Amino acid sequence: MSVRTQVKDGRTYVEDADDGWLEVKYGLPPEVMFCKSCVVSNQRATPSIITQDQAKGSKTTIPFKDGVCQACAVVGQKDSTDWEERERKLIELLDKHRSRNGSYDCLVPGSGGKDSVYQAHVLKHKYGMNPLTVTWSPHLYTDVGWRNFTSWIQRGGFDNLLMTPDGQAHRKLTELAYRNLLHPFQPFIFGQRHFPARMAKRYGQKLVFYGESHVEYGGREGDELTSEMHSRYYTGDPDGEVFISGLPIEELERYGITRAKLGEYLPMTEADCRDAGIEVHYLGYFLKWVPQQVYYYAVENVGFEANAERTEGTYSKYNSIDDKLDGFHYWCAHVKFGIGRCTHEAGQEIRHGHITRDEGIALVRKYDGELPERFFSEVLDYMNMDREEFFEIADRFRSQHLWRKSGNGWQLRHAVA
Ligand SMILES: [Zn+2]
Repeated sequence: MSVRTQVKDGRTYVEDADDGWLEVKYGLPPEVMFCKSCVVSNQRATPSIITQDQAKGSKTTIPFKDGVCQACAVVGQKDSTDWEERERKLIELLDKHRSRNGSYDCLVPGSGGKDSVYQAHVLKHKYGMNPLTVTWSPHLYTDVGWRNFTSWIQRGGFDNLLMTPDGQAHRKLTELAYRNLLHPFQPFIFGQRHFPARMAKRYGQKLVFYGESHVEYGGREGDELTSEMHSRYYTGDPDGEVFISGLPIEELERYGITRAKLGEYLPMTEADCRDAGIEVHYLGYFLKWVPQQVYYYAVENVGFEANAERTEGTYSKYNSIDDKLDGFHYWCAHVKFGIGRCTHEAGQEIRHGHITRDEGIALVRKYDGELPERFFSEVLDYMNMDREEFFEIADRFRSQHLWRKSGNGWQLRHAVA
């Protein structure tokens, strides 16, 4: 490492030639590096093991090797993968679980976005399975998101369980997660991650399918590209120490939110999942997953609609468009890690050869970190705060090693080049 660091009172600092010692938050790497192949930096947080990471309060970040991020390394292997062999393995797995009388034989979690449309549709219409689809509701459906959700179910021909958690409690959790963690999506992720396994157990389903492996965006050290999702991402101890929205679960009781009330948000234990025979697989391990093609498939087969306008914070029109809070999820990640929605999407398109790295850099410079104004007032109302307070909270979460004050605003110290 070519930078100097020091730890004082449990906080890490990195030395900057101009500004002296700067605090490094969240356990991020003190030295900022960008991937040589895409536009992602080594500050990118990997998916949390949510119950455990909450207790630790720090993040793990995407592994880099020889200047290349793990996501690029993993996607690079796709060209040399024997996809026919992978499909044979998929059919073997499906045959093991296939029902003979049309009853459910697998479970597909999703919201009706392009990926879940594709997952459920190919499983039913190409491979003759009988999926039960399961949805953990967005905070605030967008109009296009609701239309896509209904087309998925109606035109695709699926049964669906839509779980919409208590709107008052969920709003409060979202507000607290913003205030305490600058992570408004965190309570939603609890439900999204844990609810499907609960439903699998309740409906006697053993086979659960997600789309792409998260390793394609950067997993943890030791997360290999395998067909199965590691159980640490969907199990935990529902009776143990749990933090939601930055608070120990017991402290939420003052808002009338008890552990029992949060039942569907909480994980099942690993032993319970194992005893129920639940296997969670990535369909993207078996079938070559090209996001653009998945989008076209969803358009053709269920009439999936993109946004009429570019999504704020990026240049695309069809990724994560069903929740009015989506843009804020990415915006907050830009504040905390310097990595916004455009970096995420450009990185993916570079890896799949749709755009060059130079094009990606230009897009990131133009759009990354743009404030999602379209639904801003509705989201402020949802989170029970005004504009001024929203920004005042956000600024407390900026890590000095990433941001410098510039006039009335903030500037990243390190930009992709
Ligand atoms: Zn990369």
